[in-house]
Amino acid sequence: MNDSVDKLVRPLVRALDPYKPVEPPEELAKREGIDPASIIKMDASENPYGPSPLVAEALGASSGYNIYPDPFQREVRASLAAYAGVPFESVIAGAGCDELIDLVVRLTMDPGDTAINLTPTFGMYSVTLKLAGAEVVDAPRDASFNVDMDAVRAAAADGRAKLVFLCNPNNPTGTLSPEPDVLALLDMGLMVVVDETYHEFCGFTSAHLVDEYPNLVVLRSLSKWAGLAGVRLGYGIMHPRLVEHIMGIKQPYNVSVAAQVALSASLQDTDMLLQRVRMLVEERERMRGLLEDSLGLYCHPSKANFLLCEVPDGRAPGLQAQLAKRGVFVRRFNEDRLQECLRISAGKPEETDALINALTELMK
Ligand SMILES: *Cc1c(COP(=O)(O)O)cnc(C)c1O
Repeated sequence: MNDSVDKLVRPLVRALDPYKPVEPPEELAKREGIDPASIIKMDASENPYGPSPLVAEALGASSGYNIYPDPFQREVRASLAAYAGVPFESVIAGAGCDELIDLVVRLTMDPGDTAINLTPTFGMYSVTLKLAGAEVVDAPRDASFNVDMDAVRAAAADGRAKLVFLCNPNNPTGTLSPEPDVLALLDMGLMVVVDETYHEFCGFTSAHLVDEYPNLVVLRSLSKWAGLAGVRLGYGIMHPRLVEHIMGIKQPYNVSVAAQVALSASLQDTDMLLQRVRMLVEERERMRGLLEDSLGLYCHPSKANFLLCEVPDGRAPGLQAQLAKRGVFVRRFNEDRLQECLRISAGKPEETDALINALTELMK
């Protein structure tokens, strides 16, 4: 029965290994048979402090929901340009950074084109590329998860590579690639898509290079630092000509009125939101101290809002499951080099304490 339906589906889609998204708290609670209110969600780098309180107020007060949003996103782009300190013409917004990843791939990649993936990295890049019919060549990062330029050159040696994704800082490793690495990729002449979803947690950016490099696209998100993961808002900074082209292929109303209202309220409250970002960075390092000193687990250096923690001897899957039974959710990946790792998002201090207490008990 399924076979006859599957015949209707593109072979590419049938063969796709889909992205594995995280589940909402209610589902996690149901699965583990626990109270949703008791859940400690450290599996998706979400912001435990939530959005600015101004967001709910503005959403309640706004009345434009029966009217389509501005397809040219004038107000949204103007606010984002001012926030990022870049020209209006260089900015385009999307329903999350994820939509912009898809749009950039659809803008640049023909079926059969090749792209380089700096693995291990964010899973959406390869899924999106493969769906576009592109070939994905891995250029594995080195043992410390820094970009290995020799591996990149090897991956590009046949001259077919057209695009490379650089997640900076990298999810799930937390690694920050310094500017010389970004420049080395740009100077290869590839389209370089730098995903700066975690920009606010490290302060580092390549956005100023957009002026000089038309082959650079910088992507950002409001999901993590501004706590708007559920609203879906991201943006790209790139050459104005690329913005024009993306305007021509995107869904006309891709940024909702609600997202526009939530953005405007958030940008009125950046001092408070960035204060929370600093708290999360501090808490990430306190969590590192506890994981390393009290529990003897190594965590990779991180410039994002999570830690990639090594749990050796095949204990990672079991620990993840046992933590879930206690209401603490962390992320694990099936990639070879991440088998022994858990990715743990920075939470509130009491959440860190609950995680450490649970781990201490489980590892006795
Ligand atoms: C979370 C995440 C995204 C998704 O961002 P949205 O704006 O929520 O779509 C994109 N890239 C990386 C590296 C992420 O960690």
